[in-house]
Amino acid sequence: MPLRSASTPADLGFAQLLRAHGLRATAQRRAVYGVFAEAGADAADVHLSAEDVFDQARLGLPELSRATVYNALGELVEAGLLGLVEGPGPRRYDANVNPHHHFRCERCHELRDVPLASVEVTLREPGFRVQGAHVLLAGLCPRCAAQAPAGLDSS
Ligand SMILES: [Zn+2]
Ligand SMILES: [Zn+2]
Repeated sequence: MPLRSASTPADLGFAQLLRAHGLRATAQRRAVYGVFAEAGADAADVHLSAEDVFDQARLGLPELSRATVYNALGELVEAGLLGLVEGPGPRRYDANVNPHHHFRCERCHELRDVPLASVEVTLREPGFRVQGAHVLLAGLCPRCAAQAPAGLDSS
């Protein structure tokens, strides 16, 4: 069973990353993580459901089972290589592991990353020790906003 070359620089980096987190760089984990690495090359905001990952990872490794993909996703989150965004909707796995907020389009359900600095959160009462924050903004993305009827009399 010939495995595709395991020696591209991205693969080597990933293998080292996994080993640093005590995980072996199996073909399955590589296939799962590769879905994010590939998508990340042209889109910065990569948020995929487990089913999305399963569909795409199977293209490269057809014998992958759903359970294997779900397990690998859990391990990659635990290792800090993927972020996790809880619903509404199915939970998404996030290629961006730096702290950030999200904007969720109510029409197409796409998630976009929002930098921490662009959202200000203030607590009214003193004494809280804030250890993390995740703000979920909701509305229409530019593409859906352009399709939405803005006013009945616009040409
Ligand atoms: Zn949209
Ligand atoms: Zn994100």
